[in-house]
Amino acid sequence: MRRLIAANWKMNKTVSETEDYIKKFLKFVEHPESREILICPPFTSLYVASKLLQGSGVKLGAQNCFYKDSGAYTGEISIPMLKELGCEYVIVGHSERRHIFGENDELINKKVVACVEKGIRPILCVGEKKEEREAGLTFKVVETQIRLALSGVEEHTDKIDIAYEPVWAIGTGIPATPEDAVEVHTFIRNLLNELNPKNQRKTRILYGGSVKPENAAEFMKHEAINGLLVGTASLDPESFAKIVYSF
Ligand code: PEP
Repeated sequence: MRRLIAANWKMNKTVSETEDYIKKFLKFVEHPESREILICPPFTSLYVASKLLQGSGVKLGAQNCFYKDSGAYTGEISIPMLKELGCEYVIVGHSERRHIFGENDELINKKVVACVEKGIRPILCVGEKKEEREAGLTFKVVETQIRLALSGVEEHTDKIDIAYEPVWAIGTGIPATPEDAVEVHTFIRNLLNELNPKNQRKTRILYGGSVKPENAAEFMKHEAINGLLVGTASLDPESFAKIVYSF
């Protein structure tokens, strides 16, 4: 399994800032075949990013999508629109979408199903809030989110990646310990094996939450951690490159 290191820029970088970043980042890229490198800029930067990344081996993804192809859905972006721009991945169900924009498991499931049907690889984000961890509900929350999000596409989990992102670790500077992450990743792997015994580890399980150049290797030395989803520390090209080549 080729491990996946993904940058989630969130609502950061204009088109000119994107150009600047990608030109700098590509200078650090070597052996792109040894690991999968993914950049997910805002929608407005996808076109220019796609042009600049052409032929580099670095993949392009979006941070969200809608499940319909076209129509009266003001402000939404469809999967065919993303695919035309060269996106191979889309982040679905990020905790900021769930908790700031009110996305629920039903909507997230429709998006995951649409991604599988239309041939773009979703990175499904799951994770518990601080109070849920403190109440001992981590496994229950993660299990429920995964079962609901994958409902109807259990046989196609080989076309999906999952990011375990504890909400309390996102953007706080306080990551989960690698041991805590491994515990949840192992739980998710067992759940995936139950949902689709034929999957054979084709779904990568990424860790996300305050990953930085200083701690990335600690996560990546564990076999259960198949990649990283990086927010804040991906905004600087050198910092993201250090994470990409930390293992
Ligand atoms: C994220 O937004 O997916 C994320 C993990 O953010 P950060 O790295 O800033 O915690």
